[in-house]
Amino acid sequence: MKEMPNVLWLEEIKKEDIISVGGKGASLGEMTSIGLPVPKAFVVTAQAFRRFLVETGIEDALFRRLERLDVEDNGALESVSREVQDLVLSVDIPDQIREDVTDAYARMGANGTVVAVRSSATAEDLPEASFAGQQETFLNILGDVDLLDAVQRCWASLYGARAIYYRAKQGFDDRSVNIAVVVQELIRSEKSGVMFTSHPVTGEPLTIVEGSWGLGEAVVSGSVSPDNYVFDLRSERVVDRMVAEKEIMIVPEGEHGTKVVELSSEQRTAPVLSDAEVSRLAMLGKIAEEHYDVPQDIEWAIVGDDVFILQSRPITTIRRPEIPRAGSGPAQRPGGALGVVLLEGQGASPGVASGRVVIVRDVKDTSAVKDGDILVTKMTNPDMVPAMRRVSAIVTDEGGMTCHAAIVSRELGTPAVVGTKKATKLLRDGQVITVDGEKGTIYEGAVEAPAPAAPAAVAAAAPAPVITGTLVKVNVSLPEAAKRAAATGADGVGLLRIEHLILGLARTPGWYVEHGEEEKFIGELYSGIKTVLDAFPGKPVWVRTLDAPTDEFRNMQGGEEEPIEHNPMLGWRGIRRDLRSPEQFRMQIEAFKRLWAAGYSNLGVMFPLVNHPNEFIQARAMMRGWGVDVENVTLGVMVEVPSSAILIEDFIKAGIRFASFGTNDLIQYTLAIDRNNEHVADMYEPEHPAVLRLIDYAIKACREHGVECSICGQAGSDPDMVAWLVGHGITSVSANIDAVPRIREAVARKERQILLDAARRNA
Ligand code: PEP
Ligand code: MG
Repeated sequence: MKEMPNVLWLEEIKKEDIISVGGKGASLGEMTSIGLPVPKAFVVTAQAFRRFLVETGIEDALFRRLERLDVEDNGALESVSREVQDLVLSVDIPDQIREDVTDAYARMGANGTVVAVRSSATAEDLPEASFAGQQETFLNILGDVDLLDAVQRCWASLYGARAIYYRAKQGFDDRSVNIAVVVQELIRSEKSGVMFTSHPVTGEPLTIVEGSWGLGEAVVSGSVSPDNYVFDLRSERVVDRMVAEKEIMIVPEGEHGTKVVELSSEQRTAPVLSDAEVSRLAMLGKIAEEHYDVPQDIEWAIVGDDVFILQSRPITTIRRPEIPRAGSGPAQRPGGALGVVLLEGQGASPGVASGRVVIVRDVKDTSAVKDGDILVTKMTNPDMVPAMRRVSAIVTDEGGMTCHAAIVSRELGTPAVVGTKKATKLLRDGQVITVDGEKGTIYEGAVEAPAPAAPAAVAAAAPAPVITGTLVKVNVSLPEAAKRAAATGADGVGLLRIEHLILGLARTPGWYVEHGEEEKFIGELYSGIKTVLDAFPGKPVWVRTLDAPTDEFRNMQGGEEEPIEHNPMLGWRGIRRDLRSPEQFRMQIEAFKRLWAAGYSNLGVMFPLVNHPNEFIQARAMMRGWGVDVENVTLGVMVEVPSSAILIEDFIKAGIRFASFGTNDLIQYTLAIDRNNEHVADMYEPEHPAVLRLIDYAIKACREHGVECSICGQAGSDPDMVAWLVGHGITSVSANIDAVPRIREAVARKERQILLDAARRNA
């Protein structure tokens, strides 16, 4: 067999050479082989490193020191690491290796070429990514002496304390781990950036190119807002262009390192790329995507007329299981772990998405939010909803499972993590992260979602639709979510929160009244509710009257009139506000009246936050006064204050047709735990015995009197809680859109169990 040379050019590298050239070298070689313009480079092979160890006679001494080391002894680890590295640096590189390296370097270009020297570690069964960042890189290297020194330093870095610890923990024998070194022409990019070869969220054939002046570091690190170009691969045209105000660029500094330079006023606002350049980049991206068969995240650079591709990796690069925590020591073994957990909060809306962070401190900042970004904010509010529609995920500092961000994200089907306490402090604009909205975890970088389960078996034996005796309904807050909600096959809408619709109008109900624009408000409400009714023909849709705390109105036009309340959750909201603001109440009732008149008899009305039957009686009387045939429409109440559960018999006597548990509030008011306060989120206990006892009591009373009894709080999306509720006789449940299938299954299972138990008892 032919001996592996000390040096291999990228053009000579084949896939099988990964053991000799490491992951980085192999990937550059592959990119070169498919014709991508990769900057000139050669690799000092792993065999060169082995020869170095053997020929200099340091091999045995080196490995003996490592073998005796207890890596858990920090002091010993540090000192052995230093000793071994000194050993590697203390000997001369053998002549042949020295010659091969300097010859290759001379062939790179006359008069010396400035190069980057990067470690590319190898191990037979270890992909290079797991070693990322553990070995050295030297930029801006010029001349033989510095080059050889940098190569030797890369070799020594294989024995950094972190790298030794990592290998020991993973059970790798140091003798089997090698290191190759990539020596690559340093591109002094005039412009550079990244591109996604397909739309990172929708997968459409749209290449997204981001670019700025100088070295790519500025874009990758997020220290500059880059221009953004969208190239449609179908029409082969630039279809969108956003020229950003770029304040700085990063350029090489002297012989080593880089520096930040302020841009001139012309450069700040000048477009970085011409259409022709965007098109060239997109075509190169297409080659990479076709070759690798998955969309790529590519780093590029341009100098004069030359375009270079510096790196290409799948947009979703990394597998998810067993991802290690930040600061908890070295990464896990490959096949498991490749991301680092940056933050944790509550998984508020399921799904996994990666993207660039945009920190929104004020609604004004939302203009910077682009499609596919990740919105990071203290807490969302209604003004942010348009931006929330564009993003691929949402992360908040504050809030719990029932906060604004959680409710709206679930409706939009956007992954969200809430209550992280410090996302806006810890994350940086432009940083790429992955949000797991199920687990409540935020990872560094783009992390691959687990592959969906194979559909084959399902197709072979598609199950019959699940029919349940207990109705399984769905919650809706945004009319635009109605179709998705209906597609679940839900038995109706157990809660339509109209405040999201109203808060989206940007003006308070009071503003419409004050400006004589009541008709406009009624019209908006009418059409928003109609959209939902149309999606559920013939199925019950319970529309809840307005329930927004005063602080949520504050940013809207007219919001300045809102009282400043010490505790808006306990303040002027729900039915108590409508009863004292008859004009606001009347506009809502007028919209309902018109819908009933238009034939939507399936519309039921639900009053929020009632705490005494008199409130129901008064609300109904006002409706009657405004011409509603109250005996022939469906009116009910939310049970979300303990008093309403305790007084349920009196509500039934007062004539409610249904009661629905608003557990989000019922829990907070029973336990005195603020539902939106992340500091006490772990004490917010849906299955607290006091909560369950109130619910049980109210269900029994409803059943006795034949009144429909339901749940529309978040607990209705929890299969265990729902099984308990079915066991205790609830007549319907209403879940979030994403939860409907699993809730239906939980209901069906529980019902069958009840039937089976009964059959066995009677047998
Ligand atoms: C509840 O309190 O459970 C509920 C559904 O209402 P909201 O979350 O809108 O307060
Ligand atoms: Mg409520």
